[in-house]
Amino acid sequence: MRLPHIGMAIAFAFAGSAAMAQETPDQTLFTNVHVFDGVNETRIENLNVLIEGNLIKTVSSDPIEAGEATVIDGGGRTLIPGLIDAHWHTLYCCNPQSVVVTGDILEVAVRGAIGSEGTLLRGFTTVRDVGGNSFAIKRMIDAGEINGPRILPSGPPVTQTGGHFDYRPYQAVPTNPANSQWYWYSVGLMAMADGVPEVIKTSREIMRMGASQLKISTGGGVSSTYDPLDVRQFTKAEIEAFVEVADTYNTYVASHVFTDEAVQIAVEAGVKSIEHGFLMSRETMELMRDNDVWLSVQPLLNDEDGFIFDDPESQKKWIEVTNGTDRTYSTAKEVGVKVAFGTDILFDPALAERQGAFLAKLQHWYTPYEVLKMATSTNAELLELAGPRHPYLAGPLGVVQEGAYADLILVDGNPLENIDLIAAPHENFDLIMKDGKIFKNTLQ
Ligand SMILES: [Zn+2]
Repeated sequence: MRLPHIGMAIAFAFAGSAAMAQETPDQTLFTNVHVFDGVNETRIENLNVLIEGNLIKTVSSDPIEAGEATVIDGGGRTLIPGLIDAHWHTLYCCNPQSVVVTGDILEVAVRGAIGSEGTLLRGFTTVRDVGGNSFAIKRMIDAGEINGPRILPSGPPVTQTGGHFDYRPYQAVPTNPANSQWYWYSVGLMAMADGVPEVIKTSREIMRMGASQLKISTGGGVSSTYDPLDVRQFTKAEIEAFVEVADTYNTYVASHVFTDEAVQIAVEAGVKSIEHGFLMSRETMELMRDNDVWLSVQPLLNDEDGFIFDDPESQKKWIEVTNGTDRTYSTAKEVGVKVAFGTDILFDPALAERQGAFLAKLQHWYTPYEVLKMATSTNAELLELAGPRHPYLAGPLGVVQEGAYADLILVDGNPLENIDLIAAPHENFDLIMKDGKIFKNTLQ
């Protein structure tokens, strides 16, 4: 839709001055709102916020001249930045595991696209996709052809043979060189590499697809069959090769990893984002802190939202991992390692609906302010590790300030006092804006 629009604007511009108004970006003026700006603990009362195009133009306690702007009276609601999920899987989230293992990429993609609109309507305006082939969905969202969040894609997550993303059937090994590539590797849903040369080639292929960062697994996983939790994955030289290729693209590597020794090796090899890390010691968190490495951990608990696996081995691993959740958050807070928020909801569209409820679970360890800050400006800081590979560089994300992207939520109530409001977005988020466009508005 964008190209014809620009074409029209140019045609009008040549036609004369009456056309000049066509070139003024759309404006929206929020009046009578209280603002959580993503950074400061105190809600700023009684502000007016003017959006021009896709950015925030003015934030002021003085009245702003409405001019051509569409005026939205916030009625004393709280305006907060759009939420960010730093560990999301656009495709895996919303497909049953049976489909992700034995299904068809078209079904996986359609379900992922439908799920993306749901993600946006829960107030998550940005996600870091840490594995899966989300490139086409991202392009279509950015072009305005389908609705969904901003996506920072990692592309296919890379596993070693027998590692966390080796979901091939049991009979797949020993490898027959005459066999073509496994279906999910050939369609970019996952990738496999063994040895430094394959690691380098695969990493470059994924960067060529348009990845913002690389995602690998360097330790055992829960949902996977052939990798007990204690197993370390990839040699240090292989991990260093991923990191070096990412570095040539001025970006970084995120790694799925739980255990102490495996995290230490990943950190020493230059990985900058530890995904999960539920089975680490305090010393390892201190090592992360001292090396400026992020802990991207999820409030996964064996509670009413606990994952149910077909494989009893996976269920046992799930319990072992989630037994570490409480200790991980508490220790991380004490140690002062940088913590990002993500959900990692897998294989269940109904559970994906609980994304906001997962965020609210952080109140076990954090104040409402700390929860909201983590899911907005702090997560945005993690995303900035992608440097020039970050797809959205026109302004900061995760803040309400002049020049920032106009990704905003109007909350009915004050989430700084009642964080449970974010657990029920369909009831409590009265307006959702992304990129200056309104995707939900119950105030009209
Ligand atoms: Zn994940």
